[in-house]
Amino acid sequence: MEQDIINEINDLYLASYITSMTGKSIKSKFMCFTGHDDKTPSMVYYDKPFVHMRCFGCGKTFNIYDAAYYLEGLSFKDALYKFAKQYGYEDKLYENQVKPDTVIKVFDKLKKFALNFDPKYLKSSVKQYLEYKQISIDDMKRYGIGYIGNNKYVLNMLNNEFGVDTVSALGLDNPVLLVEESILFFINNKYGKTVGLTRRYCGNKNYPKYVNVKNNVLYKKSDTLYGLDLVAGKKPLYIVEGQTDAISLWKNNVNAVAISGTAFNENTLHEVYNTGIHNIILCFDNDTAGTEATYKVVNLFYESNIDVNLYVKQLDQDLDIDEYINKYGFKQFESIPVQEPFEFITKYILQNNDTYHAVEQIGDMFAKYNSFNLLNCIDIISTNLNVPKDKLYNYLNNRIIQAKLQNINQYMVNIEENLKKLKQDYEYLLERHLFANTDVGQVFDG
Ligand SMILES: [Zn+2]
Repeated sequence: MEQDIINEINDLYLASYITSMTGKSIKSKFMCFTGHDDKTPSMVYYDKPFVHMRCFGCGKTFNIYDAAYYLEGLSFKDALYKFAKQYGYEDKLYENQVKPDTVIKVFDKLKKFALNFDPKYLKSSVKQYLEYKQISIDDMKRYGIGYIGNNKYVLNMLNNEFGVDTVSALGLDNPVLLVEESILFFINNKYGKTVGLTRRYCGNKNYPKYVNVKNNVLYKKSDTLYGLDLVAGKKPLYIVEGQTDAISLWKNNVNAVAISGTAFNENTLHEVYNTGIHNIILCFDNDTAGTEATYKVVNLFYESNIDVNLYVKQLDQDLDIDEYINKYGFKQFESIPVQEPFEFITKYILQNNDTYHAVEQIGDMFAKYNSFNLLNCIDIISTNLNVPKDKLYNYLNNRIIQAKLQNINQYMVNIEENLKKLKQDYEYLLERHLFANTDVGQVFDG
């Protein structure tokens, strides 16, 4: 059902969308969306056998959602939302779900209420937490951190205005969500609309420390970065673990987003790329979980081949980022040098292997990413591994060449197979041609 709508939007509206975005007739030729080197436009619209754009330069095809990604930087989910609204598919598409506009209205209402608290009624456990995290009342109002004294009143208010079903579908009636002695971190999408929340419990009852609202059509916990809407300008972008880490950086006029439970994946990677900031600093907690997460994210960056400068910053102590900044000041945090990702990876692999296997494993990575650029890191790696630079260079270079040879070999095998088939076709047709050998004169020979 949903897939039918997704396809229908593409089939009916790709042409008019392209025209409205480019100002060109759909019968024109277009420059490829991917922006590769192309002297003349080589992308064309097709409606058969299916509706798509195709580039002859690189062979890639694009549907309306791909086009929205390249032309407007929209994720699939955001593009679908936009088109559903624009082309009147909202009712059908979000049948049985809370519609996007309602999601925004509900969270907006809740947020306004929760930000409008009177500081003198804050419970002491909450005050303590805020003091420890050095989050002021001003910070709370500025960054959308709310407090609710009377949860029953709020729930009634929401139920009355939006209906019990809607409130329940969004997970706001979860009995451990809006509990007293909590603060609420409201989560915005990149356009600054509030679409979800995480609540942090500060008291000493047996509640989970953090609870999220349910996923909805605009919010998916595993995909939504905290603070994406506040990214501005060209200063490097920090990616940190927790909401309060991001907040302590915002207070120092630094761009930061928190993954806070997000499974960092292709989608989130593109969101980061689409901020337009291409100096990215990963700064996770300096503990086992944080180091493992850093290792994973660095690998994801390498695998994706996206064009950003990635750095890793590791604290010299086992503290959260905000704890570190609160204790030593931002200047000291800032002065911690960043590492090249490969420096981090080398150290990480060394920590978990002896030197012999570490070199082997790094060789595997060079082969996997098949990149001569990585050889720029040879100094870092040889220093960390304590092996001679020239021999290490030869070994890693050789692994890259080996991987390239394997690729070429696979191409050759494919070509040989195709050639074999072509030769068979040729032989077959030639035989038929010779057998049926008749010229125009013979037609009249009687
Ligand atoms: Zn192309």
